[in-house]
Amino acid sequence: MKTLKQTYDVVVIGGGPGGLPAAIGASRNGAKVLLVEKNGFLGGNLTIGLPLLGYLDMDGKPVTAGSAQELADALKERNACTEHIFCPNHNSVTLYDHEIFKIVAFEKCLEAGVEILLHTQPIDVNLENGRIKSVILFGKGYRIEVEARVFIDASGDGDLGFLSGARFSKGQKDTGVLQPPTVMFTLGNVDTDKTIEFVAKDPEQMRFCDTIDTDINKYNAEYFRNNPYHVFVGLRKMFLELKARGELPVDRDTLIYIKSLIPGEVHMNCTRHLGIDGSNVFDLTRAEIEGHLQISELVETLRKYVPGFENCYITNIYPNLGVRETRRFEGIKQLTEDSIMNGEVPDDTVALGAYIIDIHDGLGGGTIVKHIKPYGIPYGCLVSSDIDNLMFSGRCISMDAVVMSSARVMPTCMAIGDAAGVGAALAVTP
Ligand SMILES: Cc1cc2nc3c(=O)[nH]c(=O)nc-3n(C[C@H](O)[C@H](O)[C@H](O)COP(=O)(O)OP(=O)(O)OC[C@H]3O[C@@H](n4cnc5c(N)ncnc54)[C@H](O)[C@@H]3O)c2cc1C
Repeated sequence: MKTLKQTYDVVVIGGGPGGLPAAIGASRNGAKVLLVEKNGFLGGNLTIGLPLLGYLDMDGKPVTAGSAQELADALKERNACTEHIFCPNHNSVTLYDHEIFKIVAFEKCLEAGVEILLHTQPIDVNLENGRIKSVILFGKGYRIEVEARVFIDASGDGDLGFLSGARFSKGQKDTGVLQPPTVMFTLGNVDTDKTIEFVAKDPEQMRFCDTIDTDINKYNAEYFRNNPYHVFVGLRKMFLELKARGELPVDRDTLIYIKSLIPGEVHMNCTRHLGIDGSNVFDLTRAEIEGHLQISELVETLRKYVPGFENCYITNIYPNLGVRETRRFEGIKQLTEDSIMNGEVPDDTVALGAYIIDIHDGLGGGTIVKHIKPYGIPYGCLVSSDIDNLMFSGRCISMDAVVMSSARVMPTCMAIGDAAGVGAALAVTP
């Protein structure tokens, strides 16, 4: 097979929240950048119906700016994004149009001079003296060898780090259990006012976990009435009853809907797939199929039992399984649970996180939620301790599984991406 050869300063693998800002940041700071993406569009999980969580801390103060804010502002100019709305459960909620986001993502990359290669993935790595000399990419029968001085792995699962033999961990300490993935989908013709009036009459329906007590006090019908653009997590009482009667087609105990900017539409974060490792294609295949079948049954259950969902219908099933957790790589620093619980902000901090600890149980139980103060993410967490010119961005940086449950939110991943991009450019430009 013929191999094409290309040379760059910086190659970024993956165009999601970790990769997009890294590519844009590196290019704006003078590096010749290639962004490699396996899909036919950019954005990763920014395109699967999710809200942007955690621009603000639990006191409502801003913690994330940079490209995360720049992208929100570009969407706002097109009337496609809300303000950062304080949320007593999720720090803050920012809702936006995911389709418009795809357009903005291309525009921002092109403006910054980033070269983009879609439908392409790395398949091999040439190592020399502890560095990546080149990466072999493959797409549609083409083999492309790219050399670069710095490679940034922003593939979520750390596929480039894996191919390079860099060390990584997976899952919760002691158990190794991974948070479960979800197939996101969108429903039309939902009357959420009716759902909110239902929980107003029975506040126990608002409980969504056992680990914090603020849920019923502040995260209540009044909050949803005052904030029509919201993320709803609740109906645990109903879901547990349905589960006990064998009428719930999914192993989870809450319903999560995310209001869309389109009236009557909600994005659903509701399927769950246990025992899945999202960095394994056999597991991915099982979860994708299971997810589609679960959605069909779930919609029947929602129509039957959840007020406001009686006449709903599916308008979209998102093309990529939402994978919460897989590989976390060894960096020259590691961010630990102790450090973030103490709100430490080390000297070499390049991004702040403040989103709650939010661990979905990979064994089918509930969700562990803890509110925390802002903490610093050190630059060393982005730099591989094994391979000289390899950096990480997004959810695969060097941190333990508890930290990952907080730092994984997309605004924080974008802040990490800003730092990775600027750091890589500084490393390769005079
Ligand atoms: C179900 C679910 C719900 C969530 N809810 C929220 C929420 O409400 N709010 C929030 O802010 N965050 C949420 N998160 C977390 C957040 O979406 C992720 O942690 C975040 O998107 C991680 O960013 P990333 O760039 O590391 O990975 P991704 O978003 O996965 O982006 C990785 C990119 O790399 C590409 N890629 C992957 N492998 C390769 C390869 N081998 N070659 C080339 N390209 C590749 C992918 O196509 C993708 O574009 C949720 C996550 C899940 C799964």
